[in-house]
Amino acid sequence: METLEMVREDLGDCQRCPLAEDRNHLVFGEGNPTADLMFVGEAPGRDEDQQGRPFVGRAGQLLTKIIEAIGLRRDDVYIANILKCRPPGNRNPEPAEVAACSPFLFRQIEAIQPRVVCALGAYAARTLLETERPISKLRGRFHEYRGRLLMPTYHPAYLLRNPGAKRPVWEDMQLVRDLLNEGQGDHEG
Ligand code: URA
Repeated sequence: METLEMVREDLGDCQRCPLAEDRNHLVFGEGNPTADLMFVGEAPGRDEDQQGRPFVGRAGQLLTKIIEAIGLRRDDVYIANILKCRPPGNRNPEPAEVAACSPFLFRQIEAIQPRVVCALGAYAARTLLETERPISKLRGRFHEYRGRLLMPTYHPAYLLRNPGAKRPVWEDMQLVRDLLNEGQGDHEG
């Protein structure tokens, strides 16, 4: 079976699309290589491009809080993006960029074998589920992604602009938490 290291090695100093030209760092992803829960965002932003790590800016701090709200630590999960390099000015990913990059994400998911993939935002949800449906219609229930469970929810950057969306995200994350806790037994008495 392919490991994350093998995927990383194959990616190398990637020049498969023009985003390579302007990047400071490729953002491969980070976290527990055998995580039960994996988050997938859209693409690195400025902070992520500078540090080479996913979700480290303001949206990332909120993601960390969301992870902690379901009783996990950031280290427990794996975090990656559809694109590994920052689009200029944080514009939306282009189809050719997604086509070049997303196979590496798919391979990361296969290497990690998470029980649940949480797609953050319309872009990740639509790419993984191959649908054009709006995120508001996709969130709130599990979907099937290549034999795994996928929960779409709003992107943390959207939550920063629309605090009213925190409640639906909390509902989605409770479904994820309950699913992950299934079969773990009740140790709290
Ligand atoms: N937004 C994303 O979608 N991904 C990141 O890594 C940071 C911000």
